[in-house]
Amino acid sequence: MRMVDIIANKRDGKELSTEEINFFIDGYTAGDIPDYQASALAMAIFFQDMTDNERASLTMAMVNSGETIDLSGIEGVKVDKHSTGGVGDTTTLVLAPLVGALDIPTAKMSGRGLGHTGGTIDKLEAVKGFHVEITNEEFMEIVNRDKVAVIGQSGNLTPADKKMYALRDVTGTVNSIPLIASSIMSKKIAAGADAIVLDVKTGAGAFMKTDEDAQNLAHAMVRIGNNVGRQTMAVISDMSQPLGYAIGNALEVKEAIDTLKGEGPEDLTELVLTLGSQMVVLAKKAETLEEARELLKEVIANGKALDKFRTFLHNQGGDETVVDHPERLPQAEFVIDVPAKQTGVVSNMVADEIGIAAMLLGAGRATKEDEIDLAVGLMLRKKVGEAVKEGEPLVTIYSNRENVDDVIAKIYANISIADSAVEPTLIHSIVTE
Ligand code: URA
Ligand code: CA
Repeated sequence: MRMVDIIANKRDGKELSTEEINFFIDGYTAGDIPDYQASALAMAIFFQDMTDNERASLTMAMVNSGETIDLSGIEGVKVDKHSTGGVGDTTTLVLAPLVGALDIPTAKMSGRGLGHTGGTIDKLEAVKGFHVEITNEEFMEIVNRDKVAVIGQSGNLTPADKKMYALRDVTGTVNSIPLIASSIMSKKIAAGADAIVLDVKTGAGAFMKTDEDAQNLAHAMVRIGNNVGRQTMAVISDMSQPLGYAIGNALEVKEAIDTLKGEGPEDLTELVLTLGSQMVVLAKKAETLEEARELLKEVIANGKALDKFRTFLHNQGGDETVVDHPERLPQAEFVIDVPAKQTGVVSNMVADEIGIAAMLLGAGRATKEDEIDLAVGLMLRKKVGEAVKEGEPLVTIYSNRENVDDVIAKIYANISIADSAVEPTLIHSIVTE
């Protein structure tokens, strides 16, 4: 087999065989196939697309390019939730203990944040003592006993994807549905999920800016998952404005606690119940989404979900007393209200730019090497569709620097107030096909 023939076949619109795809992925991972041939193939895929068979083969070839996590020692259906990334997306912090309270195992491998999106591990580390440096044995033991644990990303998962993603980044081939879908799905499958719930965000703060693109990506990922034997569902959810009110690590932990108590923001609560219901059904703990939703509401109301969060924090060295004493979370030195300049209705809030405003305070990283400040961030005081009076707080800034003029300017530039507004739909659609 020769790489040049594989490139030519794709260029001419032919379907690549599993053998051809394996030849490419194995050779590229090993360093036998050079970047220039891999980039030519990526560009051919960009223009010619891939069939369902090709997408499944590419995904599994990337899964098999490195280590995979074997979760077979954990009892029950391991359902993983994956978000394509958003601003103030506090769902994982809520979902893991919430479904854990229904005895559904969450053995989660998570990452840190970069740019305008935050990472689950950073958020959890806002709880004093919490750490993800646990051994695989501890990880398995905790999940079997208490149903929930989070571990950091291990080194050698899907090396083919790492190499391909870096190459795509500099060759204009990131934005290809088959390549994005196989990239995301390969990581979830390598991390050991039996079933996968995808939260595909759409809007300004999302990777997919339009509903159509989000639909296409969701369908592509659901088909790959189901074709390789992992039951997969997707929710397409709004990320035109940030999710919930809190953006920033300690602030989001507090928001997660409120939500587990049943006192969280409406949109975050609704998204958690929507995604959670799918997880419960995939884990075979309920027959229907409606039944699943009732079970989730029950463990919120009776305090079991909050208890599970305490156990989760405690198991990984975290100070679980923050659940009852959120003031023990890192606190910012300066709390500054940003008042509305006019009376009206909030009509737009550009999610990614608001995420960047939080990053400027130190809540996120501009580069991988940056240190983050766990205490700082933003609390939205109004969301799109809500009325506001001139002088009323629009946003509250939590900062460890006194001068926040840059952040205030960014907030004003990215929140609009008008005479009327259309409240964005939170759940755009559910993809199960
Ligand atoms: N996120 C990924 O993990 N892979 C892509 O290709 C794009 C976004
Ligand atoms: Ca939030």
